[in-house]
Amino acid sequence: MRLVLLGAPGAGKGTQAAFLRERNEGVHVSTGDIFRKNLKEETPLGLEAKKYMDQGALMPDELVLKMVSARLSEPDAEQGFLLDGFPRTVAQAEFLEKFLSEHGKKLDAVLLFGVDDELLVKRLSNRRTCRSCGNIFNLLAMHEHDDKVKCPSCGGELYQRDDDNEAVIRNRLKVFHDQTEPLIDFYKAKNLLKVVNAEAEDTPEMVYGRVKAALNLK
Ligand code: ADP
Ligand code: ZN
Repeated sequence: MRLVLLGAPGAGKGTQAAFLRERNEGVHVSTGDIFRKNLKEETPLGLEAKKYMDQGALMPDELVLKMVSARLSEPDAEQGFLLDGFPRTVAQAEFLEKFLSEHGKKLDAVLLFGVDDELLVKRLSNRRTCRSCGNIFNLLAMHEHDDKVKCPSCGGELYQRDDDNEAVIRNRLKVFHDQTEPLIDFYKAKNLLKVVNAEAEDTPEMVYGRVKAALNLK
């Protein structure tokens, strides 16, 4: 399948992408992950990206589009892809439409994960990632509030992303409302939008049940 996962930072896009990934619904393309990988390897793209990421601002479209079109042109993206963190602006969405139609392809659906802002701040401040396996966890869900916790999947070290601190989180949410929310109407008009409720008390598995229902998957 060719899907776009749309939703504010912390809405659970990466977690749901991991579920879909397990059923081979396509490669997971997370622009944020690609930028962080470049940053870790200190590539020119990574060093440029850092300036924006540290402030929770968007990277210039030009850089993002070059990177995404390269990624989607790789052979493994032929079977399908789950776009996570892209598109984030109307210009990016228009580019994607054009890129796909030039390759005789189109999106199957756009999943919108709806979550309230205050919950997002709480979730993101408690989000940790495993350095070894890359899995994402939430300290609240683990009933743990300190950083000494090890990864439940592999025992690796959990770390907090630099941009998961409250000031930067608030800015990322503002950027989402200002620049990404217009995509909701953009995709609604194309009849591609499917809304998935992703609220507080719901476990990732419950949300995944709704994702499958929205996509008519068993
Ligand atoms: P979030 O949890 O905020 O969704 P991501 O991991 O998707 O975080 O992205 C982290 C940062 O990478 C963003 O705050 C932004 O600086 C940059 N970024 C990621 N995707 C895009 C994009 N499509 N356009 C512009 N900047 C992006
Ligand atoms: Zn791990």
